[in-house]
Amino acid sequence: MPQTTNRIDSLFENEGAKNPLAVLKQVYGYPAFRGRQAEVVERVVSGGDAVVLFPTGAGKSLCFQIPALCRDGIGIVVSPLIALMRDQVEALRQLGVRAAALNSSLSREEYVEVRRAIDRGELDLLYVTPERIVTSGFKDMIGNARIALFAIDEAHCVSQWGHDFRPEYRELGRLGEDYPGVPRIALTATADPHTREDIIDKLGLHSAEVFTTSFDRPNISYEIVERDQPRQQLLRFLSRHEGSSGIVYCLSRAKVEDTAEWLNTQGVRALAYHAGMERPIRDAHQDAFLKEEGLCLVATVAFGMGIDKPNVRYVAHLDLPGSVEAYYQETGRAGRDGLPSDVWMAYGMADVIQRGRMIDEGGSSDEVKRVERAKLNALLAICETPGCRRQAILAHFGEPHPGGCGNCDTCLKPVETWDGSEAAIKALAAIYRTGERFGTGHLIDVLLGVENEKTIRFGHVDMPVFGVGKELSSKTWQSVYRQLLAAGLVSVDHSAFGALRLEPDARAVFRREREVRFRKDRPTSGKASKGASASSANARSILVGSDMELFEALRVARMAIAKELSVPPYVVFPDTTLVAFATDRPTSHKALLGISGVGQSKLERYGDAFLEVIRSHQE
Ligand code: ADP
Ligand code: ZN
Repeated sequence: MPQTTNRIDSLFENEGAKNPLAVLKQVYGYPAFRGRQAEVVERVVSGGDAVVLFPTGAGKSLCFQIPALCRDGIGIVVSPLIALMRDQVEALRQLGVRAAALNSSLSREEYVEVRRAIDRGELDLLYVTPERIVTSGFKDMIGNARIALFAIDEAHCVSQWGHDFRPEYRELGRLGEDYPGVPRIALTATADPHTREDIIDKLGLHSAEVFTTSFDRPNISYEIVERDQPRQQLLRFLSRHEGSSGIVYCLSRAKVEDTAEWLNTQGVRALAYHAGMERPIRDAHQDAFLKEEGLCLVATVAFGMGIDKPNVRYVAHLDLPGSVEAYYQETGRAGRDGLPSDVWMAYGMADVIQRGRMIDEGGSSDEVKRVERAKLNALLAICETPGCRRQAILAHFGEPHPGGCGNCDTCLKPVETWDGSEAAIKALAAIYRTGERFGTGHLIDVLLGVENEKTIRFGHVDMPVFGVGKELSSKTWQSVYRQLLAAGLVSVDHSAFGALRLEPDARAVFRREREVRFRKDRPTSGKASKGASASSANARSILVGSDMELFEALRVARMAIAKELSVPPYVVFPDTTLVAFATDRPTSHKALLGISGVGQSKLERYGDAFLEVIRSHQE
């Protein structure tokens, strides 16, 4: 595909052609399609159905927006979150695209306005909720209008296996029959094969072509640490991200509120977000996160789906998520713009116990509980791996990766391993001898020979295992138990308050038929060692000297425009475009158009404002 940007001028004379590449250049200002975008676009433009499974940040939106612009009629986009439709519509309008949203938050006048635009054929894209699209009212409204396509965004919501199940999505299976001949495209960033099958099945997309790409997110740096002093550890992580926006995930609402409050006392501007908050406050916090810069949003997993803020520079987990899928989705919200971003998690044995209890008390069938426990263990194994995190995560999704990514904590600072066969036998013996009825705290007391009320009362002080583990510290024993759990040699009995039990595989270890290697815990206290953590992920970190000064000035100009329009700054221009302004220093309209992210509409709207900032920095 040709990539020259100077062809753009001639494209304007060719307006009727509606060639996808021309639309990409003229409307979006991007020089070329990425990855498999061009294939998807071609398929849908020619009237075929598609299922698009790309990771976050790969550019799924263009896969339906461009076909909608190239085909006759309105592109109808099903999107689950009203709160976010507004920003998406606004972003399209900034590009000069005629877009509208249809949802319950519209006033009577706005509703009439949208209806009129539909009737007159003056709309390119219409965003609707899944509830509305299947109503007879909607059918009437669409009436005789020509429909270019249906796009079903966040398509994993159709699956009960996914984490965001929305029953209304099931009804969307009818679209194929209700509107024969109109192409449908379903999109999601979910990598889980079960969910993928559900999407095809429940949405009746059996004849769709399925497009997948690698789920690797190379710009995301992974780090997982053993929890020691969680707040101090978090603060050290956040200190690498001053001035950037990010998300801190906590398991409970109470912890969200406490953490946000505490961060503010530590000089980190933080806001809370969880489903128990009053709607207006919650929405205000979400809005602030989208529109401001340098804000830390402390949230439960209620926050995140559909958030397309491209410059989330970090995601931190203070608690272990429930599965690798959830971890991948939540961390995936970082670095949509492709710039370096850091994700970090602190976890400990307590998480495993707590998560396990949630599964057991969840009221699901035994089969589901078994699957969920397996999912949790898979995540634990990633936490405890001495190998490359990226390799382990991708392996979980069935994608091979050679490892040694150079952008995860274990690659940047390899962990040492030690022969743990002897320690494993002692740890397992402590479980066995005490009747598989105790949790790690007590088991470690037994191994260390601690005489306390409990060890005396149960007669454990008289057992041969009592005090056989004095050569290792309490912390090391905790790590041993976590790794035995990750390896499937022991399990947690949640009905017995987190007592550890032996699994059948433990037998081979007792018999010395199986060698066990453990990863060494890193020292966690003290200052963060530079080498272990990836460099501060930041758009600014890739700029130097006067370029950085210019970038800051451009950011100020962008914020002023965004405030005036009441839109998030990235709707005006993403950071990547500002970085290119700062380094390439365009001084004419033509030069501006040569920069990725500058299309015809934005050139007309903001070109001069940014040129002025660039020129004033040339002197
Ligand atoms: P996804 O929905 O897959 O997470 P988005 O559609 O939000 O990804 O795209 C992520 C970012 O990449 C957006 O800022 C988008 O404008 C940009 N982008 C998408 N396609 C291209 C492209 N071909 N060239 C340059 N930037 C692109
Ligand atoms: Zn790695």
